[in-house]
Amino acid sequence: MKALFIVDLQNDFCPWGALPTPKGDVIIPVLNKIMDKFDLVLASKDWHPEDSIHFQKWPKHCVQNTKGADFPDGLNTEKIKKVFLKGTGNKDDGYSAFEATNENLAEFLRKNNVDELYVTGLTAEYCVKQTVLDSLKNGFKTFVIKDGVEGIYQNEGDVENAFKEMEQAGAILITSNDLK
Ligand SMILES: [Zn+2]
Repeated sequence: MKALFIVDLQNDFCPWGALPTPKGDVIIPVLNKIMDKFDLVLASKDWHPEDSIHFQKWPKHCVQNTKGADFPDGLNTEKIKKVFLKGTGNKDDGYSAFEATNENLAEFLRKNNVDELYVTGLTAEYCVKQTVLDSLKNGFKTFVIKDGVEGIYQNEGDVENAFKEMEQAGAILITSNDLK
């Protein structure tokens, strides 16, 4: 079974948020369009406590139960069957969705007979990349839908380098047009 996984598409990572990607919102219509092609749609959320050592590295973002941690308006959330919460402790970066604390993602995927994971979301350089690398380590056939991913672009080339690193680790890079 194939599952679509949406990493951290939350207000604070959108252009209007506290830790913005310059154009993270362009992926919203892409994801809305492809959801129907999947048996199962899952998502992760960065879900930090008010105080976290994570905020020594990053501006404060995605605090639990705040507007910044919500999905952006415009994303069709009806199809999202489960949300995996990560970065929930105050010493916890939680870049990878496989570090979710409310549910073990690898076990959940195995229990639901998911063997192909199609990863999208924010941000390419951090949480998408770490989720993809962990997915591969856990033995799932892992695809990255490139036009369903956006990045922070702290430095030029960061997003392309992240894609390269994922591909070298075994991920299959595709675009939404490749989906049947
Ligand atoms: Zn975070």
